[in-house]
Amino acid sequence: MRQHTIRKPVTLEGVGLHSGKPARVTLSPAPEDTGIVFRVGGDHIAAAPESVVNSHWATTIGKNGARVQTVEHLLAAAAGLGIDNLEVEVDGPEVPAADGSAKPFVALLAAAGRNQQSARRRPLALPYPIRVGSGGRWIHIVPAPTFRISYTLDNDHPAVGTQVLSWAPASERSFVDEVAPARTYGFLKDLGVMRKNGLARGGSLDNAVVVGDRGPLNGLRYRDEFVRHKILDLIGDLALLGRPILGHVVARNGGHALNLELVLAVQQALGLERRSAGAAVRVLAERGAKALAPARRLATI
Ligand SMILES: [Zn+2]
Repeated sequence: MRQHTIRKPVTLEGVGLHSGKPARVTLSPAPEDTGIVFRVGGDHIAAAPESVVNSHWATTIGKNGARVQTVEHLLAAAAGLGIDNLEVEVDGPEVPAADGSAKPFVALLAAAGRNQQSARRRPLALPYPIRVGSGGRWIHIVPAPTFRISYTLDNDHPAVGTQVLSWAPASERSFVDEVAPARTYGFLKDLGVMRKNGLARGGSLDNAVVVGDRGPLNGLRYRDEFVRHKILDLIGDLALLGRPILGHVVARNGGHALNLELVLAVQQALGLERRSAGAAVRVLAERGAKALAPARRLATI
């Protein structure tokens, strides 16, 4: 399989889910072996594990003080459509929330068209299984000839409950139809605290499923939309590796921080890391000492 980029520049405008500020991205074609690179002012920030500066609630990448928040849905759309190389110019602190899913980014990439390049795509094959996390929150990836995610999401809220889905991209339409439209979600009771902490300030019923005491305040796109969105986030975070991964990912109650631990562990297992130790340190520093109590643990089995 060869690498792909898009045919022509395309733009999407909106507001940032967390910042609530106006946000605009312009996607442009990029040469082979570039990967996905964000451009903010004069800085180029690679969509790579070592660029991650925060993974609390959303994945934020940065360099030299420039930051781009909530890159995961756009990255998932590119990975889902097999776009390897892309330049993303960002105006504002965050990628637009769009409708809270990857569907608008899929439409944007589709409008841009796809261009095959001459370099080959080089999927990553794991040398051995890897597991991160502990207790009820963990992700495990085992070598496999193709990619699959099996996800279990448990939540105390009866509107979510336990949702289980095992998903593999049988075709390009699988991602477009089964994963991309699943929206991010939040609980009404958490909204006050999140906003106080600078999160969900742009969140509304237009760009998130909001779950109240009696259930979702807006209609669901799938009965199990919540677990589908967790799969979407995981696809987006795994795209930080820059190459598709061959393996079966089995996850329970993960999140962006745990996804990043997995990405760093995969990078380490494959000998791909460059400044991953530095990235991990920065992530921990920005998370703050009180956030996310469990210690970071990388284990291979
Ligand atoms: Zn998400």
